[in-house]
Amino acid sequence: MKNICAPSALFLSLFLAVGIGPARAEDDRAGSGPEVEMTWMSIANWYFRIGDLRIVMDGYITRLPGPPFFFAPPGDPGDIYGLTLGPRSVDTPAVSRVVGAVLEDAKLDYLLAGHSHFDHSWDTPTWSRLTGAPIIGGLSTCLQATSQNLPAGRCKVILGGERLDLGNGVTVRVVRFNHSGNNTNPIQHFARELSAPPTPDPVLGGFRGGVGEDYPNGGGGRAFLFTVRHRGATTSFFVQNSASAYDLDKDIIVDGVNYGAPLANLKAAMADAGLTSVDAWIGTGGLAVAQLIVPVIHPKVYIPNHWDGLFNPFWGGLPFPFKDDSLSAFLDVEGIPLMPQHQYMDTYVLTEAGVSMTPNHEMKRRLGFADVQPFGTAMLDALGEVASTSYGDDCGESTVTSPWARIMLTQFSNPAHGSVDLRKLAAIPQGTMGN
Ligand SMILES: [Zn+2]
Repeated sequence: MKNICAPSALFLSLFLAVGIGPARAEDDRAGSGPEVEMTWMSIANWYFRIGDLRIVMDGYITRLPGPPFFFAPPGDPGDIYGLTLGPRSVDTPAVSRVVGAVLEDAKLDYLLAGHSHFDHSWDTPTWSRLTGAPIIGGLSTCLQATSQNLPAGRCKVILGGERLDLGNGVTVRVVRFNHSGNNTNPIQHFARELSAPPTPDPVLGGFRGGVGEDYPNGGGGRAFLFTVRHRGATTSFFVQNSASAYDLDKDIIVDGVNYGAPLANLKAAMADAGLTSVDAWIGTGGLAVAQLIVPVIHPKVYIPNHWDGLFNPFWGGLPFPFKDDSLSAFLDVEGIPLMPQHQYMDTYVLTEAGVSMTPNHEMKRRLGFADVQPFGTAMLDALGEVASTSYGDDCGESTVTSPWARIMLTQFSNPAHGSVDLRKLAAIPQGTMGN
C-alpha cells in the first residue's frame, strides 16, 4: 500500500518545536493554577483539564459490537478484529451527551488521538464537529476525519518527535510508539497507515471498523509526554494507549520511513524535556511493558489505561474491577503506587505534592453513574479466581482465551454479543463496593 503522505525526507528523531493554536503565556501568576485534572472516560478516553486548557484524548463513546461482528481473515486467525460484517456509524447522541456532561459550556481546546483503531479514533471527528476543537493525531486519524467531512486544516498530522506548545505552560512531546500484539496478530500489531480517506458505504453510510479495513493502527501509535510549567516548577505525566514489549526496542518503519524505536523515542523525549522521572504514567501493557518503561520514565504513580474491555456499553459504568497481580507485585517492588479507577469519570488531580483521586461527583451524576461502581458478590467471587482482569494486552487480543474473559463470557455476558449483559449484572445482589 502506498502512503500518499509519507515524508520523503529522512525522518529525524529530533524534537521540533511546533507552534499550534493561539499561544497563551505561561501561567506564572501567584496562586492561580494550573492544577492538572485527568479524568478517565472508559477505554483509553481521557479528559485533561490543565488550568483553563481542556484536552480530550480519543473520546470513543460509540460501541461497535464485539465478535462475531468482528472476525479474523482466513489467513490471519489471530487477527480477531481484522474484518467486520458491515459498516457502522457514530452514535452522535451518545457522544453529544458525554460532551455536554464533561464540558458543560466550556471550550475544548484540543483533541489528541493515540492511534487510529476503532476503539480510539471512531468518535474523535464527531467531538471535533461538536466542539470546534482541532484534532492532533496520526495520518490515518486525519484521513478518517477527512472522510467525515471535517473542515480542511482541522486535523494536524503528527509523526513523533514534535514538541507542541499548547499554551498555559503546557508542552506535549509526541513519542512514536508501537501497538499491542505481535506476529500472531500482524494486521493489528504492525505499523499500518491508510493511504487515502476511507469511503463511506454507498448504501448505508458509515465505515468499516476492522483493523484491516478503515481503522488500521495508524503507523503504530502516538504517545504523549506532558510537562506543565507553573511558577518555576514542572509537573509531568506520560500517557500511551497501546504498547507491546515484543518490539518496543525495534524501529517502526512505514513505507520505508524509519520513525525510530518506541523506547529510544521515549528516552529522547525525556531528555528533551530535561526529565529523569514523571509524576504519573497513564499506561497499558501490564508487567511486560512496565518492565521496559519504568526504567526510562521512573513514574511516581501508575494509572492503568485501556483495561476495561472494548465492547462494554459506556452507560453501564465500569464493567468489572481492575486486577493485575503480576503488575501490582512489580510496581510494589519498585515503590510505585498503583492507582486503579473505581468508576468511569474518576478524576486524578496532579499537583507538585503528587497525585490524588477525587470522585468527580457532579460529572458522574450528569451521566447517571454512582461515584464508585457497585459490584455484586458473584463478580467479587469471580475476581478471586483470576490473577488479572486484563483481556491480554490493551486491545483485547485474549478476548476469547484469557481466564477473566472466559468468566465474563460464561457468567456475566451474552456470548452472542461478546459484551457484558448489564441486566444480568443488575440482577446480582449487590455486595460490598468494588475494589
Ligand atoms: Zn488499538
